[in-house]
Amino acid sequence: MTEKMLKFVRVNKETPIKRKVLERKKDFLEIYREFISEKAKEQSSRCSQCGVPFCQIHCPLHNNIPDWLKLTAEGRLEDAYLLSQSTNNMPEVCGRICPQDRLCEGNCVIEKSGHGTVTIGSIEKYITDTAWKKGWIKPIKVLKEINQSIGIIGAGPAGLACGEELRKLGYQITIYDRYDRPGGLLIYGIPNFKLEKFVVERRTKLLKDGGIKFIQNFEVGKDSTLKELKKKHDAILIATGVYKAREIQIPGNDLENIFPAMEFLTASNRKGLGDKVKNFDNGKLNVEGKNVIVIGGGDTAMDCVRTSVRQNAKSVKCLYRRDKENMPGSAREVKNAEDEDVEFIWLSVPNKFIGSNKKIEKVLANKIRLGDPDSTGRKKPEIVKNSDFEIKADIVIKALGFDPEEIPKLFNSPELSVSHWGTIKINLKTMETNIPGIFAAGDIVRGASLVVWAIRDGRDAADSIKKYLENKLNKKIKAA
Ligand SMILES: Cc1cc2nc3c(=O)[nH]c(=O)nc-3n(C[C@H](O)[C@H](O)[C@H](O)COP(=O)(O)OP(=O)(O)OC[C@H]3O[C@@H](n4cnc5c(N)ncnc54)[C@H](O)[C@@H]3O)c2cc1C
Ligand code: SF4
Repeated sequence: MTEKMLKFVRVNKETPIKRKVLERKKDFLEIYREFISEKAKEQSSRCSQCGVPFCQIHCPLHNNIPDWLKLTAEGRLEDAYLLSQSTNNMPEVCGRICPQDRLCEGNCVIEKSGHGTVTIGSIEKYITDTAWKKGWIKPIKVLKEINQSIGIIGAGPAGLACGEELRKLGYQITIYDRYDRPGGLLIYGIPNFKLEKFVVERRTKLLKDGGIKFIQNFEVGKDSTLKELKKKHDAILIATGVYKAREIQIPGNDLENIFPAMEFLTASNRKGLGDKVKNFDNGKLNVEGKNVIVIGGGDTAMDCVRTSVRQNAKSVKCLYRRDKENMPGSAREVKNAEDEDVEFIWLSVPNKFIGSNKKIEKVLANKIRLGDPDSTGRKKPEIVKNSDFEIKADIVIKALGFDPEEIPKLFNSPELSVSHWGTIKINLKTMETNIPGIFAAGDIVRGASLVVWAIRDGRDAADSIKKYLENKLNKKIKAA
């Protein structure tokens, strides 16, 4: 084994080449080029094959990383793919957009010993992209159909992963979604330069070809209540994500040209998909030639600033109340934004939007100092007295995070239990809500989180739904 592996001492860490800034700023294509086969083999061979693989422990899907790295180093790519897909429904998506620095790669033992992590995400992407090219990825073939059906509300990663796992077992799956395309935030939230849309579309097509029924433009709460849907199916999964944008309560918030992040990103993603978007086509959501201010410091804010750069904004500034070290966003995305000439105004909060003729013209902001840690352990931002300053703005994009919608009210099911934050309460062992036969997964349970966690939840929910349906069937047989 040592011949093929443990080469981290001799072979340096390398990621796939990033496209040059000047080139990538002009389009919405992904910024990383592909690994060539020899490079993927070489980089995989750096793995130290730890007895206790911390990368695997810290991957929410507990992917069998050391084994698929070894298979890649040996050139056994089809086997590597089979192993990798056995724990992950979308390895090529996670390989592209997981914040690996906080998950698998951040806990790689050779990273900790100062040699630089194995570039796990890029290799995971390479393995699965190769599998697609070689035709190794095939639609589900059900061996025995089961006459029980599951209705899934939400075609994001949680709903898709749950649907796929249950369909493989032979259950009848219908996925309902209020949007016109499946994929959830993979389609309408995350921009192309992180995740090109064909990657998502070929996955959802595969699920359709495997017998999963998709009903788009169907909003639970408008087109049906939860109870009506429950009557049609033997079990239900709620995987609706979180979409209520957090607000900023300061004077001038009602001026024109101040938008929530999702409105801006959805418009941009729709344009990329070739749709007509009224508010983009009439110039409102198109930032070309404008001075843009994005408020927030998470991954959504990074997506907004980098989208603005690609739309050819005149200037792009990110206003964030903490400093770089305390930003919630992935360090990799902040670096990408800095490289693309986004200006960060750290330790600053807006206190007033100023404009004339109803339109925003300036943001009045204050400087911040970081005080003692609060209950979450993060340093509390405190406003510095007399520190007002102004920034010119033609458009402001608010990326302050998301809360759940009021699901019990929306679904006309006031009995559905939710937490203090409005996320759906579940039994953590079974993923079942307080209503028997109704399960929940993904962001609507966790609050805004990550794709990899949504997939994990979807898979866990599928396990529990299977057990629930088997029990239901057994009871029916006994009663007959
Ligand atoms: C801008 C942005 C960038 C992000 N970048 C990353 C990243 O780089 N890496 C990462 O890991 N994560 C990222 N995330 C987070 C990630 O996208 C989410 O954690 C993940 O998509 C959650 O999956 P989900 O299936 O729970 O919900 P979603 O993906 O939100 O899907 C929910 C689906 O439910 C549908 N739905 C909602 N209500 C109803 C209803 N009443 N009736 C019918 N359908 C309904 C919605 O239309 C949607 O399709 C990002 C999020 C945002 C907003
Ligand atoms: S799914 Fe994400 S955390 Fe897990 S190995 Fe892949 S990139 Fe790392």
